[in-house]
Amino acid sequence: MNLILFGAPGAGKGTQTGSLIETYHIPAIATGDILRAQRRAGSALGEQVKGYMDRGELVPDTLMIDIIRTRLQEPDARNGFILDGFPRTVAQAEALDAMLDQLGRRVDAVIYLRVSRQVLIDRLSHRYCCRTCGAVYTFTPQQARDLPRCTTDGGELYQRPDDRPEIVAHRIDVFLTHTAPLIDYYSAQHKLENIDGQMSVDEVRADITRRLSALRKGAGSR
Ligand code: ADP
Repeated sequence: MNLILFGAPGAGKGTQTGSLIETYHIPAIATGDILRAQRRAGSALGEQVKGYMDRGELVPDTLMIDIIRTRLQEPDARNGFILDGFPRTVAQAEALDAMLDQLGRRVDAVIYLRVSRQVLIDRLSHRYCCRTCGAVYTFTPQQARDLPRCTTDGGELYQRPDDRPEIVAHRIDVFLTHTAPLIDYYSAQHKLENIDGQMSVDEVRADITRRLSALRKGAGSR
Protein backbone atom coordinates (compact mmCIF):
# COMPACT_ATOMS: atom_id res chain seq x y z
CA MET A 1 0.00 0.00 0.00
CA ASN A 2 1.30 3.42 -0.94
CA LEU A 3 -0.72 5.82 1.19
CA ILE A 4 -0.90 9.55 1.74
CA LEU A 5 -2.32 10.96 4.96
CA PHE A 6 -3.62 14.35 4.03
CA GLY A 7 -5.10 17.23 6.01
CA ALA A 8 -4.43 20.62 7.55
CA PRO A 9 -1.96 21.03 10.42
CA GLY A 10 -3.64 19.52 13.48
CA ALA A 11 -5.98 17.31 11.46
CA GLY A 12 -4.67 14.19 13.24
CA LYS A 13 -2.33 12.72 10.62
CA GLY A 14 0.46 11.89 13.05
CA THR A 15 -2.01 10.44 15.55
CA GLN A 16 -3.35 7.95 12.97
CA THR A 17 -0.02 6.80 11.53
CA GLY A 18 0.79 4.46 14.47
CA SER A 19 -2.09 2.06 13.82
CA LEU A 20 -1.52 2.15 10.05
CA ILE A 21 2.13 1.14 10.54
CA GLU A 22 1.00 -1.79 12.69
CA THR A 23 -1.73 -2.90 10.30
CA TYR A 24 0.15 -2.63 7.04
CA HIS A 25 3.77 -3.05 8.19
CA ILE A 26 4.94 -0.12 6.12
CA PRO A 27 6.95 2.88 7.32
CA ALA A 28 5.51 6.31 8.00
CA ILE A 29 7.46 9.10 6.35
CA ALA A 30 6.65 12.39 8.07
CA THR A 31 8.42 15.27 6.35
CA GLY A 32 7.99 17.59 9.36
CA ASP A 33 9.79 15.01 11.56
CA ILE A 34 12.56 14.59 8.98
CA LEU A 35 13.10 18.37 8.90
CA ARG A 36 13.03 18.71 12.70
CA ALA A 37 15.62 15.88 12.97
CA GLN A 38 17.86 17.75 10.50
CA ARG A 39 17.56 20.88 12.62
CA ARG A 40 18.40 19.01 15.82
CA ALA A 41 21.45 17.53 14.08
CA GLY A 42 22.50 21.04 13.02
CA SER A 43 22.91 19.95 9.37
CA ALA A 44 23.16 22.38 6.44
CA LEU A 45 19.66 21.31 5.38
CA GLY A 46 18.41 21.96 8.92
CA GLU A 47 19.84 25.50 8.80
CA GLN A 48 18.30 26.08 5.39
CA VAL A 49 14.75 25.13 6.42
CA LYS A 50 14.68 26.73 9.89
CA GLY A 51 13.32 30.13 8.88
CA TYR A 52 10.53 28.74 6.70
CA MET A 53 9.37 26.37 9.44
CA ASP A 54 9.41 28.90 12.27
CA ARG A 55 7.41 31.36 10.16
CA GLY A 56 4.90 28.64 9.22
CA GLU A 57 5.86 28.87 5.53
CA LEU A 58 6.42 25.96 3.16
CA VAL A 59 9.96 24.79 2.53
CA PRO A 60 10.74 25.13 -1.22
CA ASP A 61 9.46 22.28 -3.40
CA THR A 62 12.89 21.37 -4.82
CA LEU A 63 14.27 20.63 -1.35
CA MET A 64 11.23 18.60 -0.31
CA ILE A 65 11.12 16.59 -3.52
CA ASP A 66 14.81 15.66 -3.13
CA ILE A 67 14.20 14.54 0.45
CA ILE A 68 11.31 12.29 -0.60
CA ARG A 69 13.14 10.90 -3.63
CA THR A 70 16.01 9.81 -1.39
CA ARG A 71 13.73 8.46 1.34
CA LEU A 72 11.58 6.37 -1.03
CA GLN A 73 14.71 4.59 -2.23
CA GLU A 74 15.44 3.18 1.23
CA PRO A 75 14.78 -0.57 1.47
CA ASP A 76 11.98 -0.27 4.05
CA ALA A 77 9.85 1.79 1.65
CA ARG A 78 9.93 -0.81 -1.16
CA ASN A 79 6.73 -2.53 -0.02
CA GLY A 80 4.80 0.63 0.61
CA PHE A 81 4.73 3.77 2.71
CA ILE A 82 2.52 6.23 4.54
CA LEU A 83 3.35 9.80 3.65
CA ASP A 84 2.50 12.38 6.31
CA GLY A 85 3.07 16.01 5.34
CA PHE A 86 3.97 15.36 1.70
CA PRO A 87 2.84 16.35 -0.89
CA ARG A 88 1.86 19.84 0.18
CA THR A 89 1.69 21.50 -3.25
CA VAL A 90 0.52 20.42 -6.69
CA ALA A 91 4.16 20.54 -7.88
CA GLN A 92 5.12 18.08 -5.12
CA ALA A 93 2.19 15.78 -6.03
CA GLU A 94 3.20 15.80 -9.70
CA ALA A 95 6.81 15.04 -8.80
CA LEU A 96 5.67 12.16 -6.57
CA ASP A 97 3.53 10.69 -9.35
CA ALA A 98 6.46 10.91 -11.78
CA MET A 99 8.86 9.35 -9.25
CA LEU A 100 6.52 6.42 -8.54
CA ASP A 101 5.75 5.97 -12.20
CA GLN A 102 9.45 5.42 -12.91
CA LEU A 103 9.45 2.69 -10.27
CA GLY A 104 6.29 1.09 -11.72
CA ARG A 105 4.34 2.11 -8.60
CA ARG A 106 1.53 4.51 -7.80
CA VAL A 107 -0.32 6.16 -4.92
CA ASP A 108 -3.10 3.78 -3.84
CA ALA A 109 -5.13 6.08 -1.62
CA VAL A 110 -5.15 9.55 -0.13
CA ILE A 111 -6.79 9.70 3.29
CA TYR A 112 -8.11 13.20 3.76
CA LEU A 113 -8.87 14.09 7.40
CA ARG A 114 -11.38 16.94 7.25
CA VAL A 115 -11.40 19.30 10.28
CA SER A 116 -12.85 22.81 10.73
CA ARG A 117 -10.56 25.81 11.19
CA GLN A 118 -11.69 26.46 14.77
CA VAL A 119 -11.03 22.88 15.85
CA LEU A 120 -7.57 22.98 14.22
CA ILE A 121 -6.68 26.16 16.10
CA ASP A 122 -7.94 24.71 19.40
CA ARG A 123 -6.01 21.48 18.92
CA LEU A 124 -2.71 23.08 17.90
CA SER A 125 -2.66 25.73 20.59
CA HIS A 126 -3.06 23.02 23.25
CA ARG A 127 -0.59 20.60 21.67
CA TYR A 128 2.64 19.55 23.38
CA CYS A 129 5.26 17.21 21.95
CA CYS A 130 7.96 15.05 23.47
CA ARG A 131 11.42 16.30 22.52
CA THR A 132 12.81 12.80 22.18
CA CYS A 133 10.07 10.55 20.76
CA GLY A 134 7.69 13.15 19.27
CA ALA A 135 4.60 11.78 21.12
CA VAL A 136 1.78 14.32 21.11
CA TYR A 137 -0.32 15.43 24.11
CA THR A 138 -3.15 17.91 24.63
CA PHE A 139 -3.25 20.02 27.80
CA THR A 140 -5.47 22.86 28.99
CA PRO A 141 -3.56 26.09 29.85
CA GLN A 142 -4.00 25.18 33.51
CA GLN A 143 -2.47 21.70 33.06
CA ALA A 144 0.31 23.20 30.96
CA ARG A 145 1.52 25.36 33.85
CA ASP A 146 3.12 22.28 35.37
CA LEU A 147 3.98 20.10 32.39
CA PRO A 148 4.46 16.38 33.12
CA ARG A 149 7.14 14.25 31.38
CA CYS A 150 6.35 12.03 28.40
CA THR A 151 4.58 8.85 29.54
CA THR A 152 6.37 6.81 26.85
CA ASP A 153 10.03 7.68 27.45
CA GLY A 154 10.11 10.32 30.19
CA GLY A 155 11.26 12.97 27.68
CA GLU A 156 10.67 16.69 28.14
CA LEU A 157 7.40 18.02 26.70
CA TYR A 158 7.41 21.33 24.83
CA GLN A 159 5.21 23.45 22.59
CA ARG A 160 6.48 23.58 19.00
CA PRO A 161 7.42 27.18 18.14
CA ASP A 162 5.18 26.96 15.07
CA ASP A 163 2.21 26.03 17.31
CA ARG A 164 2.05 29.58 18.70
CA PRO A 165 -1.38 31.09 17.86
CA GLU A 166 -0.18 33.70 15.33
CA ILE A 167 1.86 31.09 13.42
CA VAL A 168 -0.92 28.49 13.62
CA ALA A 169 -3.37 30.82 11.86
CA HIS A 170 -0.81 31.43 9.11
CA ARG A 171 -0.12 27.69 8.67
CA ILE A 172 -3.82 27.05 8.16
CA ASP A 173 -3.95 29.82 5.53
CA VAL A 174 -0.90 28.32 3.81
CA PHE A 175 -2.71 24.96 3.81
CA LEU A 176 -5.83 26.48 2.25
CA THR A 177 -3.87 28.34 -0.43
CA HIS A 178 -1.17 25.85 -1.42
CA THR A 179 -2.22 22.41 -0.18
CA ALA A 180 -6.02 22.29 -0.43
CA PRO A 181 -5.85 22.25 -4.29
CA LEU A 182 -4.61 18.68 -3.88
CA ILE A 183 -8.17 17.70 -2.90
CA ASP A 184 -9.20 18.26 -6.52
CA TYR A 185 -5.95 16.77 -7.82
CA TYR A 186 -6.53 13.44 -6.05
CA SER A 187 -10.32 13.47 -6.52
CA ALA A 188 -9.71 13.60 -10.25
CA GLN A 189 -7.57 10.47 -9.85
CA HIS A 190 -10.40 8.82 -7.79
CA LYS A 191 -8.01 8.29 -4.90
CA LEU A 192 -9.42 10.60 -2.25
CA GLU A 193 -10.99 9.06 0.88
CA ASN A 194 -12.78 11.96 2.56
CA ILE A 195 -12.99 11.30 6.32
CA ASP A 196 -14.55 13.32 9.14
CA GLY A 197 -11.45 14.11 11.23
CA GLN A 198 -13.54 15.51 14.07
CA MET A 199 -14.73 12.11 15.26
CA SER A 200 -12.85 10.50 18.16
CA VAL A 201 -9.37 9.08 17.48
CA ASP A 202 -10.80 5.54 17.61
CA GLU A 203 -13.69 6.34 15.25
CA VAL A 204 -11.34 7.97 12.73
CA ARG A 205 -9.05 4.94 12.96
CA ALA A 206 -12.01 2.57 12.39
CA ASP A 207 -13.20 4.58 9.38
CA ILE A 208 -9.72 4.55 7.80
CA THR A 209 -9.37 0.80 8.36
CA ARG A 210 -12.81 0.13 6.89
CA ARG A 211 -12.12 2.12 3.75
CA LEU A 212 -8.67 0.69 3.20
CA SER A 213 -9.88 -2.88 3.55
CA ALA A 214 -12.69 -2.13 1.07
CA LEU A 215 -10.05 -0.81 -1.34
CA ARG A 216 -7.88 -3.88 -0.88
CA LYS A 217 -10.85 -6.19 -1.51
CA GLY A 218 -11.73 -4.20 -4.62
CA ALA A 219 -8.14 -4.43 -5.86
CA GLY A 220 -8.07 -8.20 -5.17
CA SER A 221 -11.26 -8.87 -7.11
CA ARG A 222 -10.19 -6.97 -10.22
P1 ADP B 1 1.95 20.22 10.54
O1 ADP B 1 1.33 19.16 9.67
O2 ADP B 1 1.57 20.10 11.97
O3 ADP B 1 1.83 21.60 9.98
P2 ADP B 1 4.65 19.25 9.96
O4 ADP B 1 5.38 18.69 11.11
O5 ADP B 1 4.13 18.31 8.92
O6 ADP B 1 3.50 20.12 10.59
O7 ADP B 1 5.53 20.37 9.20
C1 ADP B 1 6.14 21.42 9.90
C2 ADP B 1 6.74 22.40 8.91
O8 ADP B 1 7.71 21.73 8.09
C3 ADP B 1 5.76 23.01 7.90
O9 ADP B 1 5.06 24.11 8.44
C4 ADP B 1 6.72 23.40 6.77
O10 ADP B 1 7.47 24.56 7.10
C5 ADP B 1 7.70 22.24 6.75
N1 ADP B 1 7.27 21.15 5.81
C6 ADP B 1 6.97 19.87 6.14
N2 ADP B 1 6.62 19.16 5.05
C7 ADP B 1 6.68 20.01 3.99
C8 ADP B 1 6.42 19.90 2.60
N3 ADP B 1 6.01 18.74 2.05
N4 ADP B 1 6.58 21.00 1.83
C9 ADP B 1 6.99 22.16 2.34
N5 ADP B 1 7.24 22.35 3.65
C10 ADP B 1 7.10 21.29 4.48
